[in-house]
Amino acid sequence: MIIGCHVSLSAPDYYLGSVKEALSYDANALMIYTGAPQNTFRKNTSDFKIEEAKRLLTEASIPSSSVIVHAPYIINLANTTKPETFELAVDFLKQEIDRTRQIGAKVIVLHPGSHVNAGEEIGLDRIVEGLNMALADNDDVEIALETMSGKGSELGYRFEHLAYIKSKVVKPHLIKVCMDTCHMSDAGYDVFQFDKLLDEFDNVIGLENLRVIHLNDSKNEPGAKKDRHANLGYGRLGFDFLYLVTSHPRLSSIPKILETPFVNELPPYGIEIEMLRSGNYIDWISQE
Ligand code: FE
Ligand code: FE
Ligand code: ZN
Repeated sequence: MIIGCHVSLSAPDYYLGSVKEALSYDANALMIYTGAPQNTFRKNTSDFKIEEAKRLLTEASIPSSSVIVHAPYIINLANTTKPETFELAVDFLKQEIDRTRQIGAKVIVLHPGSHVNAGEEIGLDRIVEGLNMALADNDDVEIALETMSGKGSELGYRFEHLAYIKSKVVKPHLIKVCMDTCHMSDAGYDVFQFDKLLDEFDNVIGLENLRVIHLNDSKNEPGAKKDRHANLGYGRLGFDFLYLVTSHPRLSSIPKILETPFVNELPPYGIEIEMLRSGNYIDWISQE
């Protein structure tokens, strides 16, 4: 099983610290933001201790395909109203792609974007335009578009949106997908018919284009379009379903990444990874 989680990237050890944090949870995959997800301030990667981090990954037999970068969620390529915002987003995504390459990772997860009030088709075409610009000088780092919940004017809540973007860009071979279990349920997909869901994904996008799974429980009922993650077993999806996804034979080569909420200000990942590795649910959060 390839299981990891979102880990922090911060002073003094940066990327080396991220890898150490992941290993402390018995993870064999990890996901990082290269800086704060809500702003564009970034430290130079020369401070990231990349070589030491890579050595540690090799020692732990963790391949580069199990290291995932997440682009900051302020990047909105679907913006058609403010040209300066769109240009900033494209420019920043380019830099994030470079940083992904510099740390030695192959995949960056991206929220497709929100069309605000422009309408879905216009938004999708703007995303295509933005990706073409951002990918112009890149031929190796893949963009994994994330399946979204559909809150607000978010695009990407249907597999068809992601397939449309992939079919229209100049470099479709670089467009891959990140499935988020919470988002798919919130978007209205019946995740409990999971094999049917995988078949549908396969028909629309191709299962070979799946690069990563965000494994989250959901606080809301299916179709709620809310996007609020819950700890494993404490939401509407439940531990049995999330374990089924983790251990599914069709997905054995895909890293599963937890983005579950902190509990009493502490990361829940050690115990959640233990639960997934053993297949045994532990009722560990006291509900006062
Ligand atoms: Fe995301
Ligand atoms: Fe996610
Ligand atoms: Zn989410």
